Amino acid sequence: MAQTLTEFDTIAAISTPIGEGGISIVRMSGEDAVEIANRVFKGANLAKVPSHTIHYGHVIEPKTKQVIDEAMVSVMLAPKTFTREDIVEINCHGGIVVTNRILQLLLKEGARMAEAGEFTKRAFVNGRIDLTQAESVMDIVRAKTDKARQVAEKQLEGGLLEKIRAMRQEILDTLANVEVNIDYPEYDADTITANQMATVSRSVSEQITQLLDTAAEGTALRNGLATAIIGQPNVGKSSLLNYLTKSDKAIVTDIAGTTRDTLEEYVSIKGVPLKLIDTAGIRDTDNKVEKIGVERSKKALAQADLVLLLLDSSQDLSPEDKELIAATDAKKRIVILNKTDLGQKLTVAEIKKLTGSEVIATSILQEKNLTELEEAIRKLFFSGIENSNDQVMVTNQRQVGLLEKAKKQLQDVIQAVNDEVPVDIAQIDFNGAWDTLGEITGESSPDELVNELFSQFCLGK
Ligand code: GDP
Repeated sequence: MAQTLTEFDTIAAISTPIGEGGISIVRMSGEDAVEIANRVFKGANLAKVPSHTIHYGHVIEPKTKQVIDEAMVSVMLAPKTFTREDIVEINCHGGIVVTNRILQLLLKEGARMAEAGEFTKRAFVNGRIDLTQAESVMDIVRAKTDKARQVAEKQLEGGLLEKIRAMRQEILDTLANVEVNIDYPEYDADTITANQMATVSRSVSEQITQLLDTAAEGTALRNGLATAIIGQPNVGKSSLLNYLTKSDKAIVTDIAGTTRDTLEEYVSIKGVPLKLIDTAGIRDTDNKVEKIGVERSKKALAQADLVLLLLDSSQDLSPEDKELIAATDAKKRIVILNKTDLGQKLTVAEIKKLTGSEVIATSILQEKNLTELEEAIRKLFFSGIENSNDQVMVTNQRQVGLLEKAKKQLQDVIQAVNDEVPVDIAQIDFNGAWDTLGEITGESSPDELVNELFSQFCLGK
């Protein structure tokens, strides 16, 4: 819990977990909540609306009038609110980058970033709830976000639905021909061949591969790029972390837990959402002995989308450094040559050659070249996604699993055709792929294939 007693100023935070669902809520509580919201909202005069009402409009940058997102804003005036203070909630749907911009805007206009659990804490301090209630709030919030996620999934994945339907249709068209071939061998023996099945399997399997390629990026977009800060003890990891989490960059959610230890830290670096992986202990400056060595860093690595690898540029590479370079080779990586103020032994060119990665020389202590570092992070991120801007993205593990299964089934079809297995046997996996893809959209049912075929070709008429 927060130590400082700064109640009654106006606090703001993103109240929905980042990465779960496409709808986000930015919440403000305190005396100035309505006034601050009014400055960044166009659609209704929030100072004049009745309590407990919701209003449609746009969040705008007050100076430039630039529209940041479409939003629904609820106004709930004290004392009948969760915190017993004025509360404004901005429901937006622009994803983490936009949501964070809205939060930043509120902070710029005078709100203070809420600490973890601070809304609940205010409810408690202001006599609204007791401690057991405070605990149960977290559970309710969790249940609510599950629902929000379901809704968001339904709304936001129309593009994916279409894509999968199109792939299923390709399979279905071919299946219909195959069925005709099996049931009416004399009907049209020419065009209907196993090769057709293999061709379609190849085509659909390729499309699935493309979708799967988007999965990692889609997840990063929604969840923030999982980022591990790695390096030898004393190289500057904590210093970098502190720089990155300076309050103008940090994104605080009010939901992860009530204590610092369970709070996940997100930062926005030039619009790129980073989720800083808890490399346990790098904040713990009192306990130098416990500071992370190679083994601990490696654990953080497993979950990382992006690695920031720090090397001490004033020293020669140590065997441990080399080990860390090898261990991070397969990752998206930026190598940081830190402590350039102590005299630079390692050069950017040399380390670039050795690692093949982007290399930035910094002095975190003197805040030198840190803007370049942020720019490098931004570039790395957008180089990954710029090709997939209009593309459908897969962001959900269940979908990834089913796509992988369908792909395997299609590859088995190709294999079966290569091995000249009889058509009706190869067809089993072909049917299977159609079913599996249907599971993604929820459209598979045992009789569906028969019905579809019947309606399309009127077999048995
Ligand atoms: P960690 O063990 O990797 O987390 O390293 P810290 O961030 O705790 O830094 C260890 C020491 O190096 C601290 O005294 C920092 O102030 C210092 N330090 C960090 N960055 C620099 C830098 O760029 N130049 C110099 N001279 N010292 C630095």
